[in-house]
Amino acid sequence: MSLPPALKSRRNSVAVKIGNVTVGGSAPVVVQSMTNTDTADEIATTIQVAELYKAGSEMVRITVNTAEAAAAVPGIRERLAKMNLEVPLIGDFHFNGHKLLTQHPECAEALAKYRINPGNVGRGKKRDEQFATLIDIACKNDKPVRIGVNWGSMDQELLARLMDENAKLQEPLEPKQIMFETVIRSALESAAMAEHIGLPRNRIILSCKMSDVQDLVSVYRELAKRCDHALHLGLTEAGMGSKGIVASTAALAILLHDGIGDTIRISLTPEPGAPRTKEVIVGQEILQTIGLRAFVPLVTACPGCGRTSSTYFQELAERIQAYLRNQMPIWHAHYPGVENMTVAVMGCVVNGPGESKHANIGISLPGSGESPVAPVYEDGEKTVTLKGERIAEEFQQLLDNYVIRTYGSR
Ligand code: SF4
Repeated sequence: MSLPPALKSRRNSVAVKIGNVTVGGSAPVVVQSMTNTDTADEIATTIQVAELYKAGSEMVRITVNTAEAAAAVPGIRERLAKMNLEVPLIGDFHFNGHKLLTQHPECAEALAKYRINPGNVGRGKKRDEQFATLIDIACKNDKPVRIGVNWGSMDQELLARLMDENAKLQEPLEPKQIMFETVIRSALESAAMAEHIGLPRNRIILSCKMSDVQDLVSVYRELAKRCDHALHLGLTEAGMGSKGIVASTAALAILLHDGIGDTIRISLTPEPGAPRTKEVIVGQEILQTIGLRAFVPLVTACPGCGRTSSTYFQELAERIQAYLRNQMPIWHAHYPGVENMTVAVMGCVVNGPGESKHANIGISLPGSGESPVAPVYEDGEKTVTLKGERIAEEFQQLLDNYVIRTYGSR
């Protein structure tokens, strides 16, 4: 039997420093997110940035779309600093970025990176002037720039030019191929222009976001072949709930497995009332499941079946996963390596002991018709059998003891 293919080695890319975070080169793939508050609302934006950062977002993007939003950025930066949260803030600019950054130099200074979309910088001669203004400001402030192309707002002049060139070919390409080429060329030509203006190569990150999984994979594979810039990955407009998660995972898993991608964002539409932090957790889980990084101990849980007579084991699995995530900020500081721990919470003894033996620590709850006891395995050995009303609390205590004993002395 052949072993599954290993992850391909990461593509070589130029490392870019963004505040205290490195993207590209040999740095681990970075998780980022974006707020959905009105940036002009300094307090609401600070709170959401803090929530995203605490959930694991290593950089947070905020929209900077008005003079009020630009004026609020230094205050947001200051409030975060007072909370000891050194999260790099990325400013997202469209249409008026050149004006906002010129008129609000303190905003240009407070941001750790600027994201600009070549399709939304301006039209005609003004486009180049406005692009040059943005890049000049980045150079003066020594800030990196993400040139972020989005297929929904492609550079229409470039598209028209490539369409004309294609029409003259003996064997013209399919319109979709021209669209891919436009997205890629828009990123590469803008990067070349930025370098020509004076922005160093190690201050440039590229992205070419598409909303279709196969399109995204095709575009990034080609983009990765044609340049060594650090690449930001994300499926744009991924959608809500399981659709958004599945589509993002399908796209990013292929590319990351190919070694493509230095930073990721999962563009989920939050369900009403759902926390914004979901996109961060999904991003972390993709990287951890692929085996690229470890953030939080993972819970292996069975789906349950007719042998589970209640929802108790589902509730226990949920409770343990939430407990592990909540404990991580404290454990991370005191118990190095704990993020690699695996925990099994199983519904009955059919597969329970087997999974529990393979995890660092695992429990099998009693299925219907089984005696009301829950064997616990630690490092492959059965250590105790829990019973009674307090199985959840006692298992949590065993988990704490395991973490202290196993990761405390490293
Ligand atoms: S471990 Fe038991 S409860 Fe869980 S799916 Fe398998 S048979 Fe069903």
